[in-house]
Amino acid sequence: MTNEQQAIKDRLEAIEKRIQAACDRANRKREEVKIIAVTKYVDAKAIGDLLDVGIMDIGENRVQDALPKHELHGDRGAWHFIGHLQTNKAKEVVGRFPYIHSLDRVSLAQELNKRGEALDTVVNCFLQVNISGEETKFGLSPNDVLAFLRETSNMKHIKIIGLMTMAPVVDNQEEARHVFRGLYEWKERINEWAFPHAHIEELSMGMSSDFEVAIEEGATYIRLGSVLVKPE
Ligand SMILES: *Cc1c(COP(=O)(O)O)cnc(C)c1O
Repeated sequence: MTNEQQAIKDRLEAIEKRIQAACDRANRKREEVKIIAVTKYVDAKAIGDLLDVGIMDIGENRVQDALPKHELHGDRGAWHFIGHLQTNKAKEVVGRFPYIHSLDRVSLAQELNKRGEALDTVVNCFLQVNISGEETKFGLSPNDVLAFLRETSNMKHIKIIGLMTMAPVVDNQEEARHVFRGLYEWKERINEWAFPHAHIEELSMGMSSDFEVAIEEGATYIRLGSVLVKPE
């Protein structure tokens, strides 16, 4: 094992303890929480190290940076597109990234659906909801969720399997709790509506600074960058 791989293993071990403790506090099973290693800070070689030590899920947020990395390692692990997605870049992502966490508007849904149809596949999407209401954040306003689901309900090549949100940057992760709880409530609400294309199983929430509270509030995917993946 290389030094880099050992360093990742050490970080992972410390993170594991914190995940397990959060699961214990919330009476959840460890298997319910998956780690996405957010690799936007590092090069393709570092992604190879992450995959070598057993990381299964890779997250990237910029299409141009992600494509060469995917070119090298795309056949390993599951790739998640987690950043804002321009409509004209959607074609690069569909077929490469099995999960898209940043669906936030009808025009993007149309494009993803079109690309899914062209590849004869169904695109797994997370609806990004701006629970905190910060203007600087992407994501559908909660007020627009119902209209969005109605307008996309006939799209056969997208499937909304989860919700995603980003909490405000705060000093104390307790201050983010209401955002995560809010996303959980949207999951319950959407599932009651029972749209054919939107059965929410996954909650993508929690990053390096707030993943423990996110787990306590029901996260199934935590997106870990700096705490796990250190630039050289
Ligand atoms: C960068 C990024 C993360 C990871 O951030 P860290 O604070 O470094 O863990 C998670 N989600 C998204 C959408 C990101 O862009």
